[in-house]
Amino acid sequence: MAKSKFEYVRLYETEDKCLPNTWIIVRVDGKGFHRFSQDHSYEKPNDLRALALMSKAATTVMEEFKDICLAYGQSDEYSFVFKKECQVYSRRGSKLATYVSSLFASSFVFYWPDYFPSARSQYPPAFDGRVVLYPSDQNLRDYLSWRQADCHINNLYNTCFWALVQKEGLTPSQSEEKLRGTFSGEKNELLFSKFGINYNNESDLVKKGTVLIRKKVPVLLENGETRAKSQIVQQNIDLIGDEFWKENEHLLKS
Ligand code: ATP
Ligand code: ATP
Ligand code: MG
Ligand code: MG
Ligand code: MG
Ligand code: MG
Ligand code: MG
Repeated sequence: MAKSKFEYVRLYETEDKCLPNTWIIVRVDGKGFHRFSQDHSYEKPNDLRALALMSKAATTVMEEFKDICLAYGQSDEYSFVFKKECQVYSRRGSKLATYVSSLFASSFVFYWPDYFPSARSQYPPAFDGRVVLYPSDQNLRDYLSWRQADCHINNLYNTCFWALVQKEGLTPSQSEEKLRGTFSGEKNELLFSKFGINYNNESDLVKKGTVLIRKKVPVLLENGETRAKSQIVQQNIDLIGDEFWKENEHLLKS
């Protein structure tokens, strides 16, 4: 095709290839979900339908992008880990961030009725997306540990906050005031002595968030035989210690 005189404008596009041989993380996070969760009557502190919908959207993203080897989600965010050697879209950061966040957002809306059958979505939600690169395996592990520690800290806080509001009748600002400056030991103690809640007995889903990885699982074929097939499985497990990484050594191998 002949080139038009306008073609030169393409030269204004900037190159944004991710550094070779580094872990690529794309993290999406819901825009204004503090408000979105209220407007859609999420149960507090944790709406399990919403968490399941987030993981459904993340699974859809992983099914589309085979180079994602692991995803980790909590609250209104999900992180997707692309293998170091991945070459998808020539490692262009904006392509990766926009494809992942737009597919995530459209899947969230697409599957919404399956998780909230009686409540129509009031307005279209948005998710931001960012790319972060990590050169070493330790950096990658520390990144995931950081997100999981964040999940734990926020969940402990939110469990206290909502117990004070829902069971003690405090206003949100009184509840916030009461928790200001408290250490985690004091929050555990408050939950136990005031509300009879042993935080350790809360579900791993809310304490640890959700890990998605691919696993070979036996599936039954039509002819009655079984075959090992790769499937995306959900686990609510610890990523901070060594156990997960020993069990899933292949994740860090090229
Ligand atoms: P921003 O646009 O800066 O991300 P935000 O309001 O989304 O603002 P976040 O720090 O991302 O703030 O926090 C997300 C908020 O969404 C949580 O604090 C919580 O109030 C709410 N939320 C997300 N998921 C759930 C859930 N499953 N159950 C209950 N509340 C949730
Ligand atoms: P890529 O993922 O690289 O963008 P693509 O298949 O989306 O691949 P584009 O160059 O973006 O390729 O072209 C979009 C194509 O979508 C068009 O070539 C056309 O076939 C189809 N298309 C888009 N909008 C319409 C429309 N309104 N009516 C009919 N066809 C459309
Ligand atoms: Mg935020
Ligand atoms: Mg958010
Ligand atoms: Mg968030
Ligand atoms: Mg096009
Ligand atoms: Mg196109």
